[in-house]
This record gives sequence, C-alpha cells and structure tokens, in this order.
Amino acid sequence: MLIGVPKEIKNHEYRVGLTPSSVRELVAHGHKVQVETMAGAGIGFADNDYVAAGATIAASASDIFASAEMIIKVKEPQKVEYEQLREGQLLFTYLHLAPDPDQTAGLVKSGVTAIAYETVTDRAGGLPLLAPMSEVAGRMAPQVGAAALQKANGGRGMLLGGVPGVAPAKVVVIGGGVVGTNAARIAAGMGADVIILDKNVKRLTYLDDLYGPRIKTQYATIDDTEALVLEADMVVGAVLVPGAAAPKLIKKEQLSRMKPGSVIVDVAIDQGGCFETSKATTHADPTYIVDDVVHYCVANMPGAVARTSTFALNNATLPFALALADKGWKKACQDDPHLVAGLNVHAGKITYKAVADALGYEY
Ligand code: NAD
Repeated sequence: MLIGVPKEIKNHEYRVGLTPSSVRELVAHGHKVQVETMAGAGIGFADNDYVAAGATIAASASDIFASAEMIIKVKEPQKVEYEQLREGQLLFTYLHLAPDPDQTAGLVKSGVTAIAYETVTDRAGGLPLLAPMSEVAGRMAPQVGAAALQKANGGRGMLLGGVPGVAPAKVVVIGGGVVGTNAARIAAGMGADVIILDKNVKRLTYLDDLYGPRIKTQYATIDDTEALVLEADMVVGAVLVPGAAAPKLIKKEQLSRMKPGSVIVDVAIDQGGCFETSKATTHADPTYIVDDVVHYCVANMPGAVARTSTFALNNATLPFALALADKGWKKACQDDPHLVAGLNVHAGKITYKAVADALGYEY
C-alpha cells in the first residue's frame, strides 16, 4: 500500500503521523511511504532520517493527497486537507467529529473512509489511542503546576517537594484514571504529599495496590472533595464522564476559600474543565488568576512536548497502521472489532452512532 504522511498544518502542531522508525516497520512489511518535506522537522526528524528509513519525500501535501491510499496524520484534517480527500482513500488520525460539523460535512462529501484514533477501543474497554496523550498530560501536570507555584508566577512560593525540615506541598488529584494516575506518580516522585480522589472504588483499590502508602486515596464525596481542595497547594483536575462535559466539582464560591497562591491544573479542560472558573488557555499564555488561585488550563498539553507525544502516539497507532496497510481496511476491520469502533465515516455516510446523533446524520 502507498501510505502518505503530510506535515501537520494546525497552528503550533509539531507532532507527525509517523516517526522514521514507524516508517521502517511499514517498509519492512512491503509498503511504500511518502512523507511531506519537513514534516518532522519541528521535533528533530530530518527528511534524511525518513529517507534512511525507506520513505520518499514529497515536495507538497497535495502530492500526498493525490497519490496515497492511506493517509496517516495526527490532528483532524483542516479544510484545505479534507477538500483533497477522495473516495477509496483511507484516513487514519484524530478526528473529534461530534463538535465539528464543518469537518464532518467535508469528510462525508469527500467519500473518504476515516478511522478516528479517539474511538478505537481495546479489550479492557479503554481507548488505547487516546491513553498515550492522557499519560503525557498527566505527567506534565505536576511539572507545570510546580512552576505555577513559584512566586513570580503568582503561586504561593512553594517547592513541591519541600526540603529537609520543611513540609512538602499538598497535591490533590481529582480523578484517578489515566491522567490522574500519571499526575500522582510524578507529583509523588517530586516529593509532594499526594492524595487521589475518585468515585470508582475499584480504581482506588488498584491505585492503593499500585502505590502503597506513597499515595493516599479517598472516595470522592462532595464533602471530602471540598475539604481536601481547601487544604491543597495544588489541585489537578482529571475527571472524565465518558461522552459528557466534565462535572463542575469546585464552584467559584469554594475557589474563593482556597489558599491564596494555590494552583489548579485543570487537565479536564478539553471537556469543559471541572472547576467553575476554568476557561481554556494556550501554551503561549497558559495561566490566569481568579481569587488569588493560579489556573493552568491548556487544552492541548501534549503539544508542548511534541517529540515525546509523537513517539507515544506511534507506539499505540503502529500495530493498527500495520494491520490496515497489510490487510486493507475492510479485512482489518473484519478481524478486529476494536478497529471497527474507530470507523467514523465511510463512502459518504457517518458510521459512528454518537457522531451521527450529535450532528443529525442518518446512521
Ligand atoms: P479516564 O477515564 O482514564 O479517568 C477519569 C476518571 O475520573 C475515572 O477514574 C472516573 O472514575 C473519575 N471520575 C469521574 N467523575 C468523577 C468525580 N465526580 N469525582 C472524582 N472522580 C471522578 O480519563 P483520562 O484519560 O484520565 O482523562 C481525564 C481528562 O483529561 C479527560 O477530560 C481528557 O479528555 C482530559 N485530557 C486532557 C488533555 C489536555 O491536554 N488538557 C490531554 C489528555 C487528556
């Protein structure tokens, strides 16, 4: 199969659909890979690295859209991209169609077959192509929160791990899923005093087994969530209710009773955030202050560490990319129900119920 990798064109997006080593795997399976010039330049992959892995370099994205049988990307196609897609072509990337009627209409019109990373499932009921980005964002949360706790950034002027004779900061993580587990791990590694709240007792049991006494766990009642947040130096918002906006667990009135200079890192901001005062920010201007509490609410945290994120994403997508290339999408989907779960658009129809329902398409 001829596989094409265009350079990402969304603002400040430096990730790339395939690393050179993923290209080498596909080439070893007998496929041809065409990569747009400079596609990985922002994260240290030169055109020569791709050539050494067996790819050819295309001078422009339009060359790739014109010839590739499968296009592998990171972000959803932009207008200029989806206008070039066509029937018989396969698109494998993040799509996030439900809130994006224009892109959805564009993909339907194009006739393309589109498999969305974010709806591919695994045996445990998880979302294996979404999880790596949650791992990245979770591990970043204490890092960005630690910087925000510094005085010059509006914080309390506290070191997360304290020093001998001075107590560490108290970090409260609300939601013990992928983001929360990774945030807690790094915060504890930095020496903070960490507690995770969740509503799922099984998850709390798992976390207790995993971390032992290094990290405390607490069932997330309204009472306990409030009490812990009011004592915290840093709160990480990491809840997810699948298919719904994040619940507003901390209201503005409660925020005003938090310690002055404390920090919230609301990772759940891409679902609206779990603090009433959260609003999405960007890497260029990541924080703002409400009632003396520093808010970090960047909606695409993994973009800041695009190199790590690209490797993590490729580790998860490569087995699916190989199956799609080796077998063609029909046979690959026949063999793997988890890949079928990723099929969002085919031949002018929406093939994913939640997207069809959200945007009023026939399913
Ligand atoms: P997950 O499903 O693995 O975990 C969510 C956890 O929240 C679950 O354990 C669930 O039981 C718990 N929960 C739900 N309601 C709760 C409540 N009221 N109180 C306490 N716990 C509650 O999800 P995840 O992968 O960890 O993602 C968490 C959020 O982070 C999502 O909104 C996701 O989209 C977002 N995210 C943001 C970025 C970013 O760049 N900002 C990156 C990746 C993920």
